[in-house]
Amino acid sequence: MTGDLNSPGSPRARKIIVAIDGPAGAGKSTIARHLARHFGLLNLETGAMYRAFALKALRAEIPLSDSAALVRLAQETAIRLEPGDAENRVLLDGEDVTGLIRNQTVTDAASKVSVFPPIRTWMVRLQQELGADGGVVMEGRDIGTVVFPHADAKIFLDAAPEVRGMRRFDQLPSGHAHQPEDVIRDLHERDQRDRNRADSPLRPAPDAVLLDSTHMTLDQAVKAAEDIVSERLAAHAR
Ligand code: C5P
Repeated sequence: MTGDLNSPGSPRARKIIVAIDGPAGAGKSTIARHLARHFGLLNLETGAMYRAFALKALRAEIPLSDSAALVRLAQETAIRLEPGDAENRVLLDGEDVTGLIRNQTVTDAASKVSVFPPIRTWMVRLQQELGADGGVVMEGRDIGTVVFPHADAKIFLDAAPEVRGMRRFDQLPSGHAHQPEDVIRDLHERDQRDRNRADSPLRPAPDAVLLDSTHMTLDQAVKAAEDIVSERLAAHAR
């Protein structure tokens, strides 16, 4: 029974919900992708949805502090997330914006628009619909606490800020003009906003398993995450 449950691609495995939360640069996306492959699940990156909306707000030149205008904009916005093997495809009002949402301007804007409760309520509803049938690894900041508080397995992935900053720095495209200290500072500012916002701040769910990847290689962190999910699923089956 336990074996069936954990075997990749088994019918039961396809129904489960795995929540991965944590700050930027902790390795959530990479680990979520591996878990999705290993357990036969769809990988859904909720940050991409906030990023797509932030792109729309930037294009409309709406001040990112104007909550009323952002809410009006949200009312005329359709965001779709399509799971893919490497990354999710993000459709903003039908336009594929996947390649446009990872730059620093959009990153910063996403963390600003995501503080407003009506924007979060809208996103949470969309995310709950996406995961309603189960069979997903959903990754973000509030998945285990708000979006799927009854997720089968919850991981809160963290790492020391300097380590997270350097990982982000190393992922930047070649020829960029950033300095490591700038990347670490931006990440720190974003962390502070995510952790201190009034509505669903970034924090571990009480039943999340904490995984600190500071001193781990990617392979070690992936293996640790796989073990956590397998263990949680086995515990549920008992
Ligand atoms: O995960 P990612 O870095 O793509 O997220 C971009 C921003 O979107 C985060 O800094 C955070 O402010 C916001 N976000 C959020 N809740 C989520 C996912 C992302 O507030 N579930």
